[in-house]
Amino acid sequence: MKKSSFGILGLGVMGKSLALNMLNNHIPISVYNRETGEEVGVVADFLKTANNTSVKGFTDLGEFVNSIETPRQILIMVKAGKVIDRVINGLLPYLEENDIIIDGGNSHYEDTAKRVAYLSEHKINFIGLGVSGGEEGALKGPSLMPGGSKESYQKIAATLEKIAAKDDDGKPCCNYIGPAGAGHFVKMVHNGIEYGDMQLLAELYALLLLTKTYEEISKLFFEWNEGELASYLLEITAKILVEKEGNENLLNLILDKAGNKGTGSWSSTVALKLGVPTTVKTTAVYARYTSSFKNERVVLAKKIDRKIKSIEPIDLVALKEAYDFARTINLQQGLQLIKTASDTYNWGLDLAEICRIWSNGCIIKSKKIVAYSKVLQQVDSLFEAKQVVSGLNKQETAITKILQNGLANRVNVPCFYEAYNYWIAMTTAQSSANLIQAQRDFFGAHRFQKIGAKEEESFHHNWSELC
Ligand code: NDP
Repeated sequence: MKKSSFGILGLGVMGKSLALNMLNNHIPISVYNRETGEEVGVVADFLKTANNTSVKGFTDLGEFVNSIETPRQILIMVKAGKVIDRVINGLLPYLEENDIIIDGGNSHYEDTAKRVAYLSEHKINFIGLGVSGGEEGALKGPSLMPGGSKESYQKIAATLEKIAAKDDDGKPCCNYIGPAGAGHFVKMVHNGIEYGDMQLLAELYALLLLTKTYEEISKLFFEWNEGELASYLLEITAKILVEKEGNENLLNLILDKAGNKGTGSWSSTVALKLGVPTTVKTTAVYARYTSSFKNERVVLAKKIDRKIKSIEPIDLVALKEAYDFARTINLQQGLQLIKTASDTYNWGLDLAEICRIWSNGCIIKSKKIVAYSKVLQQVDSLFEAKQVVSGLNKQETAITKILQNGLANRVNVPCFYEAYNYWIAMTTAQSSANLIQAQRDFFGAHRFQKIGAKEEESFHHNWSELC
């Protein structure tokens, strides 16, 4: 029997769509799903749906592995966590030297780095593959962020690049990211940026809802989406706003409590660890946490019963500029985190190429990312690009206006605040941190640096006693 060129283990939402994508690209595949899970007949159902002679289905792991040509390329598409280790250990007895295992789930990059090392002891190659685009992206062309050894990537590149989304120039939105857990790291930061972008849209919606109907807000977002601000998230938000269930706007039926699967908070935890202020996306994580305190919010809202005397109308031109401003800051913070990780772990990551990979197929794809990818070919950071800094500078008045509108109308817009605060902090040459240095030395003899002294020099002062 002719062997398949590629194997997919796990036929959940993403595994199924990626398998169909491969078949649409004429890649002969073998698929596997366990039969002991919550659902049975998953493989049989898939074979029926696919209706394609290039796919073989298995519920026996050994038969599945044996049906793939060597060196094997097997994509694991199951939930992240300990399950991945169980699946890897289940596969190991059937694998041979030089086979390549790819984890396409949202695994933590540190776990991926450990798995790369563990499997290399068994002479098996391991790739941690960030996949973005949701179910539709997986089917029609996702954005792919592979990390691990470059040699292993080169062996799977043809397949991944075939199924990936294509950028404006027809190049695949997939390229080697870097060693160890670099691919999953970049996917994690992508998700963090996604949290920030989503929350900014939610804040716009809250501000606009004071004076506009869902239909009017949707129309405005569709208009913005025609220009420089075009993005996947803006477009789906414009659609969501006019979605109905029966005669009712669906949004009126959805509870105002946002959940999360953890990648946003991972991204913020890593940012804290690496000392990078990623305040917009971290605030977006907090906004979701705050939303989950629904009962408390309802009780407190009744207690304070504060009425806004008259609604301050919003300046739509300023709002559009403020949105552009905050989105740029959110992206810049995410890219700074990637750059710091790259320097810390010696990964040699290419920010321009990462933005290019994000330019299509993924949830944060946008016209701006395409533009910023080109900017980053010339400079190392968006803050080194004259046109970006002068654009943000011009937009400062707009963001100030929007924050004032939020204050006047008592609308919670935390991510807009954080974008503004970060910009002010980053563009203030003399900060108040000299006082922090002094306080630390006063109570803890932590020493301080002095203006004009060598960077490695530190000082302690014999502070006056408290009266
Ligand atoms: P699903 O929940 O739809 O599917 C999970 C799959 O994992 C199922 O095939 C399930 O099998 C299998 N599975 C679960 N536990 C085990 C186990 N112990 N042994 C073997 N197989 C197991 O998940 P998704 O397809 O949505 O997600 C898969 C991965 O991709 C996750 O890491 C997710 O974070 C990531 N991802 C998801 C995206 C999305 O939009 N959904 C986007 C990008 C990444 P069974 O049917 O038998 O339960």
